[in-house]
Amino acid sequence: MSRILITSAIPYINGIKHLGNLVGSQLPADLYARYMRCRCHEVMFICATDEHGTPAELAAAKAGKPVADYCAEMWAVQADLAKGFRLSFDHFGRSSSQRNHVLTQHFAAKLAENGFIEEVTESQVFSVADNRFLPDRYIEGTCPNCGYDKARGDQCENCTKQLDPTDLIDARSAVSGSTELEVRETKHLYLKQKSLKGEIEAWIDSQQDWPILTTSIARKWLHDGDGLQDRGITRDLSWGVPVQFDGAPWQGMEGKVFYVWFDAPIEYIAGTAEWADANGKTEADWERWWRTDKGADDVRYVQFMGKDNVPFHTLSFPATIMGSREPWKKVDYIKSFNYLNYDGGQFSTSQGRGVFMEQALSILPADYWRWWLLSHAPENADSEFTWENFQTSVNKDLADVLGNFVSRITKFCRSKYGEALPEGGQTGERAQALIEELETRTRAYETHMEAMEIRKAATELRTIWVAGNEYLQSAAPWSVFKEDPDRAAAMVRLGLNLVRLYAILSEPFIPDASAAMLKAMNCNDKRWPGPIAEALTALQPGHAFETPEVLFAKIADEDREDWQKRFSGIRA
Ligand SMILES: [Zn+2]
Repeated sequence: MSRILITSAIPYINGIKHLGNLVGSQLPADLYARYMRCRCHEVMFICATDEHGTPAELAAAKAGKPVADYCAEMWAVQADLAKGFRLSFDHFGRSSSQRNHVLTQHFAAKLAENGFIEEVTESQVFSVADNRFLPDRYIEGTCPNCGYDKARGDQCENCTKQLDPTDLIDARSAVSGSTELEVRETKHLYLKQKSLKGEIEAWIDSQQDWPILTTSIARKWLHDGDGLQDRGITRDLSWGVPVQFDGAPWQGMEGKVFYVWFDAPIEYIAGTAEWADANGKTEADWERWWRTDKGADDVRYVQFMGKDNVPFHTLSFPATIMGSREPWKKVDYIKSFNYLNYDGGQFSTSQGRGVFMEQALSILPADYWRWWLLSHAPENADSEFTWENFQTSVNKDLADVLGNFVSRITKFCRSKYGEALPEGGQTGERAQALIEELETRTRAYETHMEAMEIRKAATELRTIWVAGNEYLQSAAPWSVFKEDPDRAAAMVRLGLNLVRLYAILSEPFIPDASAAMLKAMNCNDKRWPGPIAEALTALQPGHAFETPEVLFAKIADEDREDWQKRFSGIRA
């Protein structure tokens, strides 16, 4: 038994995520966590909401709520959707937790102690009416290049020119619209990533088995242009982790908070501490996952994220950990993903284009989405969601192959032998060939799951379902029954044992259907299969079962067309 720590990139608190976000981190992390639990490993699976920063403040202001209340409400919404998609987090934390405050301040203090923090004075735009400094993107005005009147302080959306806020004509605050803006001096803390560049590079070079997507992004940021740069880790905001030394003031930093990118990954650790608090555990119980001086040396730590998050996880967060000079666990493997596109374009939150998590669950159960998203995960390139592909995949893989198999074998047994496994008879060569095929395929499936090759694993699983269906089709117990009911009984026994085997193998992908199959088979024995021949005798003659409801309904053309229209975006 191994110990496996799994974290999913933490979703920003502001708004409900779309299916592209889901398949880029949380869902594949869940697949891996479930599989590792199936294999009896000790798993700690942590996710959380990322709650700090200006977007949360502005969204709260728009909703007319204090930002803390807004975040608490949105956390509950996201936690509920995670449950709906059956994401099996051991804990779904919050980056605004007291645990994260303490740990973030702790890391900053250690970094300062070790000489990796520098104070830098910079000029920034201050809005007198809003009584706050404004990040570049919250300053609007007219583009000096093209005359577009809603250009942002960092870039003009219209002509794509990179801008400085001071370039804008008639600059105003995007928060209040006020034009009473001044450039003021402000002091910030910088993490001296440049001083840690050599260490980070050596660490990345030592990762022989990481996906190319992960290492190529890390190397690009290390070397392109001027290479890895020092980064500001504080902001002039009120919502966030106060810049303090464990409760004591940090001189010159009064009223400032840590920048969201600094505290968000620390929440992986804090979230594990929150898990301990929520479950009546001790400090030692969470530290054994994170401190190599307290038992975490044998932990394998795997992170899941979209490619946009790779720079933070390969450079900045490791810089925080390394610079602390404390024995914190570093990541062992980073599984990163490309983007999922939507029906000929991109998902767009602002245009309401694409399917968002709560909408998905309002039209179909989680397993339908889980199966499609995972079997089309954007692993080696961007992939695309189309309704036609979704309909085909659900109708073929889930309804025609798996659902039909379960329905046919249980109904046939009930009509000829009753709702218990029949006795007598022997299966023939066809069954032997099936068992041999399943032996090979199951072991291949395990290899792909271990390696987090998600699409390959899905393909193997689908082929395992198909093999059973084809066996049943060609063995045809309904024909054999007329001549030799004993031999047909042996086929039926094999078929019903296959339902149990499929339930166990499919659990990481489609947990609800898996539970329904096991319940129908009246079986609590979920042990992962050793030799397949043995696994297919787990249910013995006389064992009672139930004929389940339809596992997967087919998607009708009218529904597909209706949904296609409904989710095409407000501008379509
Ligand atoms: Zn412009």
